[in-house]
Amino acid sequence: MSRRQSSYQTIRTFCPPHCLMSCGILAHVKNGKLVKIEPANFPDPRFNRICLKGLSQISQVYHQDRIKHPLKRVGKRGEGKWNQITWDAAFDLISSQFQRIIRDYGSTAVAWFKGAGTFGRLSDAPKRLASVLQGTLIGEGMGDGIDTTGPQASLDTFGTAWWASPTEKYHYGGSNEVADCLNSRLIVIWGANFAETAPHNMRFIFDAMEKGAKLVVIDPRFSPTASKADTWIPIRPGTDTCLALGLLNIIISEGLYDKEFLTNYTVGPFLVRDDTRFFLREENENGQESQNVLVWDPTQNKGVPSTTAKTASLTGSYLVNGVPCKPAFQRLIDLASKYDLQTVEKTTGVPSEVVKQFAEEYATKKPASMGLLYGLDRWYFGNLTYRSLFTLMSITGQIGIKGGGFFLSDPTHCLNEEWWGFPDGKKPKFLDALRMYDAIPNGEPYPIKALWVYRGNFFRHSNANRIIDEILPALDFIVVADRFLTQTAQYADLVLPVCSSFETTDIQVGPFPYVQLQQKAIDPLYESKSDFEITVEVAKRLGVGDYFNQSAEEYIEQLVNIDSITLNRLKEEGAIALEVTRPHVSFLDKHFLTPSGRVEFYVERGVEFGQELPIYIEPEEGSPQNQLAKKYPLIFLQSHSRFHVHTSFANNPDLLEINPEPYVEINPVDAKKRNITDDDLVAVFNDRGEVKLKARLNEGIRPGVVDIHHGWWAKQFDKGSYQDLTHEKINPALAIPNFSYFDCLVEIKKTRRV
Ligand code: SF4
Repeated sequence: MSRRQSSYQTIRTFCPPHCLMSCGILAHVKNGKLVKIEPANFPDPRFNRICLKGLSQISQVYHQDRIKHPLKRVGKRGEGKWNQITWDAAFDLISSQFQRIIRDYGSTAVAWFKGAGTFGRLSDAPKRLASVLQGTLIGEGMGDGIDTTGPQASLDTFGTAWWASPTEKYHYGGSNEVADCLNSRLIVIWGANFAETAPHNMRFIFDAMEKGAKLVVIDPRFSPTASKADTWIPIRPGTDTCLALGLLNIIISEGLYDKEFLTNYTVGPFLVRDDTRFFLREENENGQESQNVLVWDPTQNKGVPSTTAKTASLTGSYLVNGVPCKPAFQRLIDLASKYDLQTVEKTTGVPSEVVKQFAEEYATKKPASMGLLYGLDRWYFGNLTYRSLFTLMSITGQIGIKGGGFFLSDPTHCLNEEWWGFPDGKKPKFLDALRMYDAIPNGEPYPIKALWVYRGNFFRHSNANRIIDEILPALDFIVVADRFLTQTAQYADLVLPVCSSFETTDIQVGPFPYVQLQQKAIDPLYESKSDFEITVEVAKRLGVGDYFNQSAEEYIEQLVNIDSITLNRLKEEGAIALEVTRPHVSFLDKHFLTPSGRVEFYVERGVEFGQELPIYIEPEEGSPQNQLAKKYPLIFLQSHSRFHVHTSFANNPDLLEINPEPYVEINPVDAKKRNITDDDLVAVFNDRGEVKLKARLNEGIRPGVVDIHHGWWAKQFDKGSYQDLTHEKINPALAIPNFSYFDCLVEIKKTRRV
């Protein structure tokens, strides 16, 4: 091509992975090829940013391992033998298999597994098809059917899951915007490593520290985030609820709680029956309970409905209408009083003086915010931990104030989601990811025979051996749409090449408060198609093409139809802010969405499980008290690193240059006992499986704990995979069960390559 003919364009788009940052990026395109990526500007320059992964997107797009054509399996599943077929043949195969399965087993036997490889809204077109066909959608719902314990704890305590609700336009789901931490005097990052996994949060945290905020980080690892803290608290993994109860005990016994907030905005004064442990409710003349919960009014010396009480006791024991009862706060006092400093130190490993100082600081350095993500979530009893933290925030009156509450990584917000995902009110049947483990092999609660996997790789989840041995063989047909032959794709019957985000148009809400357009920068490589295009063609063949009869841009126009945002405006302005007050602070009006309209640190739904209060229970598996610990004494964590977003980017050549292989981190004390030195090949194992990889000694990890970064692909280990070690036990107290990867014991030994 001559110089005259060469073209150069700069196109504004965004980086779409599940890290939820949605960084705006400028794609530089020369002669139709992506040549450079840099951060794009936002009206608020604090959002101008990019990370290593974003910068490495070019090598992801032009990766030699991209799937280039539709591939049909010819060997056994997982054998890696494929025939290239045409798109028409692929679409015909999907439609004929789906029609047969729907005819034989019903529409719910066709399931879609939705991952989080990208958050573009049009790429979620398969969900619309699942709705129209009344199929099954796996991984959709509270916390996406994965990472559910925080959202459930938030729902129990505040009446709203912590992410945005699909039905409420700007609902922030209980958390505050990260930028609100600039109003905090104390920031506590509990079980999160923002410096690596949500780097843009750190900019706001550093700004807050420059303004004088103190930073406390609670983490069993001396993470990059912990390295920036004023105080690092290396806790025994899985004992966070115990620490929170110890903090509550000090705050209560030293009278540092917020009596006014507790009385007026929490269920603290609600009387709880000693016999049933449910709230004591007013009875009508027929002896039937009303919804009115009674409180003890000391001025009248009797139980009265909370709605009419002038004042209410928070402590004491009472006899009301012949029923012995206590205020919920008294029950919390009774629980917390068991967690004296010695008990907390013995259980958590955190020295008593640190616990005491931290408790006093949290209660008195107001406002104090907490930064949370998913380090606390991947435990069997993770919901109790989050509830204990929400209780801590509530009794100190940190909720609904600027600089208080908690922040996550700013979540994405919803556009016209109901219209897009559930046309004509049609909805798929929802199944959480963990119940899929039983549904597919056992046909319970109903048969699932076909699986369409999009935007995801379910081998990042627990017990990979069970997925291979039990789950996949029970399926008649598996189609995977991806850019790479991931481990999931390896077991498919049909693999479809999907466009990268640079090859297709889409829409994203985020980073809060912005809406951004993903503009097509280059033509699709090879024979790739977008998830949207693939879905349209399959829908036509299945006779539901009417639900997909508009162009991508027409759908986007309708998806963004809020706050006078239009597609044209997005094309011109790149990022448009939603009309919201910033920084967003949840519950400023002290209006809570619980049944009582108050913060419910006492949860009636938990009575059945003895969990009406956030009690501490030793981890299900990852505890030295477990019998298994004799054989497998080490707690196995899977921290997230700066190099991966789940399993995305694990094959990126740029990133592999600086982070070439997986390793297990072990404290030198544990390593010495096992005669392990740096770079030794070791086997990490338990009864479920074994993974072989190199060891790296690190004093920054607590003795008794080992860690392998989450996100590596199985083939990158010397043998096995870290998910061969984990389990998929379901906690019946959770409305939506959760993966408890971290609640896992292992042993480690030196080994040799065979
Ligand atoms: S991977 Fe996440 S943090 Fe990194 S550039 Fe992309 S959106 Fe931003």
